Amino acid sequence: MAAANGSGKGFEVPRVEVRFTKLFINGHFVDAVSGKTFETRDPRTGEVIANIAEGDKADVDLAVKAAREAFDNGPWPRMTGYERGRILHKFADLIDKHTEELAMLDTVDAGKLFLVGKVRDIPGAAHLLRYYAGAADKIHGETLKMAQQMHGYTLKEPVGVVGHIVPWNYPTTMFFFKVSPALTAGCTVVVKPAEQTPLSALFYAHLAREAGVPDGVLNVVPGFGPTAGAALASHMDVDKLSFTGSTEVGRLVMKAAAESNLKSVSLELGGKSPIVVFDDADLDTAVNLVNFATYTNKGEICVAGTRIYVQEGIYDAFVKKAAELAKKSVVGDPFNPRVNQGPQVDKDQYEKVLKYIDIGKREGATLVTGGKPCGDKGYYIEPTIFTDVKDDMSIAQDEIFGPVMALMKFKTVEEVIQKANNTRYGLAAGIVTKNIDIANTVSRSIRAGAIWINCYFAFDPDAPFGGYKMSGFGKDMGMDGLEKYLQTKTVGQQQTGSAP
Ligand code: NAD
Repeated sequence: MAAANGSGKGFEVPRVEVRFTKLFINGHFVDAVSGKTFETRDPRTGEVIANIAEGDKADVDLAVKAAREAFDNGPWPRMTGYERGRILHKFADLIDKHTEELAMLDTVDAGKLFLVGKVRDIPGAAHLLRYYAGAADKIHGETLKMAQQMHGYTLKEPVGVVGHIVPWNYPTTMFFFKVSPALTAGCTVVVKPAEQTPLSALFYAHLAREAGVPDGVLNVVPGFGPTAGAALASHMDVDKLSFTGSTEVGRLVMKAAAESNLKSVSLELGGKSPIVVFDDADLDTAVNLVNFATYTNKGEICVAGTRIYVQEGIYDAFVKKAAELAKKSVVGDPFNPRVNQGPQVDKDQYEKVLKYIDIGKREGATLVTGGKPCGDKGYYIEPTIFTDVKDDMSIAQDEIFGPVMALMKFKTVEEVIQKANNTRYGLAAGIVTKNIDIANTVSRSIRAGAIWINCYFAFDPDAPFGGYKMSGFGKDMGMDGLEKYLQTKTVGQQQTGSAP
C-alpha cells in the first residue's frame, strides 16, 4: 500500500490509495519472477507513489502461457457472444462504481486533470466497453455463392493471444481502446502498460476478475519497454500485437514481430497534426478551438493540433487573441478544479519539451508567450506559442508532446494543402471555416486518418480512429477496431450424393 498526499490552497487534495502493485497473471496478483520492483512517480512533485512489480521476459512468458491456455482450452472463446457481452457489461458497471478512485490514480500517475478523468476518461472507458459488449453477439461471417455443388461460408474467429503495448498519456483510454474489442472478439490478452503509468491498468485487472472474466483471459504485466515490451513483441506464441506509442518504438515492434513468428501488427503512432484556420472563421471560436486542440492534456495527446496555419487576413488578430488566451491558462495541481493544465508526465518528458522550446528559439521562431517552467516543484510548463515558424523547423516537424503551439501564415487553399501535408505523420487535422466547399476540398486533400471540421477531438466509440503515413496503420474503435481482432476462415463443402 502506498499513498500520494498533498495540500492545496483553497481545494481538497485527496489521499490516493494504491491497492494493486503486483503483476496480474492467470487471475492472480503475483510478484515478478526476479522479485524486482520499479518506482512510479507523481509528476506534481516527482515523489514516489508506489513500487510496482517489474515484469520481464520470464513474467511475459508466464502471462502468454496463461493466455494461450485460456484461448486454446478455456471457456472465453467458446462461450456465446451473448455470455461474453454480459460479463463485459458487468465489467463496465464496475468501472462506473469506481470512477472517482480510478480518476485519482490517473491523476497522480500521469498528471491528468482529475475532473476530466472523472467526467470523461473513466466514463468514456465504460462507454467504449459497452459499445463493444453490445457487438459480442453480432459477429458472423457470410454465405458464399460458390459452384453449384459447393456449400461455402466464412467464419469470423478470434485471432488468438493478443499482446497490447500502450503509452502513458491516456492510461485508461489506451487500455480500453485495446482490451475492449479484443475481449469482445473472444481473444485472450497480455497488456504491457507504460512504465510511467501502471496503476489504473492493475485496478482494471482486478475489476475484470470481479466481473467474471475467466483466469488467463486478461493479464497485465507492468515493466519497461526494452525488456517486458520487447519480450511480448518477439514472443513466438503471441498471435497479434497491437501497439500504441511513438513511431520509433513502433518500428522496433514491427521488426520484432517480423523476426519472430510474423504475428500480425497494428500500430497507432505519433502525430504532428495541422489545423487550418480560414479568414471567414469566427475569430473567437477559432482561437478557442485551437487552444483546446493544442493544450488539452498538457499537449500530451497524439492528435494534438500543433501546426496551426492561419490565413493572412486574420493572422495578426489571431496571434494576439491566442496569446491572450494562453496567458489566462491556470497551470497547477490537477486536483484543483480551477486548473486547466497539470504537469508533464515525468522528468524526461518535461526536459524534452523545454529542449524543443530552446530549439525553437535557436532556429529563429519568435516566442510570443510562455516558454518557461512554472512552480517550484513538479513538471509544469507554461502554455507556449511560437510565431514566424517555418515548415522545415524542428518545432514544425517533430512531435513535441507538450503545450507548444507553432503558428504559421498562409495565403491560398492550394498552398495550405501542400503545407499541411508536409509532414511524415498523418494522424489528424482540423479545418475552421464557414465555407463548405473549402471544407470539403481540404478534408479530401489532407492525408490523415481523422479530419475535424469546426471542431476537434471528435471521438466516438463508433468512429474508427487511426493514422496514415508514419502515424501507423490499423484502426481503434468502431467496427474496424473489432475486425482487427478477428480472422476470416473460409469453409467450402462439396455436396455428397445427388439431389433427390
Ligand atoms: P513509447 O513508444 O516510448 O512507449 C510506448 C510503449 O512502448 C510503452 O509501454 C513502452 O514501455 C513500450 N516500449 C518502449 N520500448 C519498447 C521496445 N523496444 N519494445 C516494445 N515495447 C517498447 O511512447 P510513449 O512515450 O509512451 O507515448 C508517447 C507516444 O505515443 C507519442 O508518440 C504519441 O503520439 C503516441 N501515441 C499515439 C496514439 C495514437 O492513437 N496514435 C495515442 C497515444 C499516444
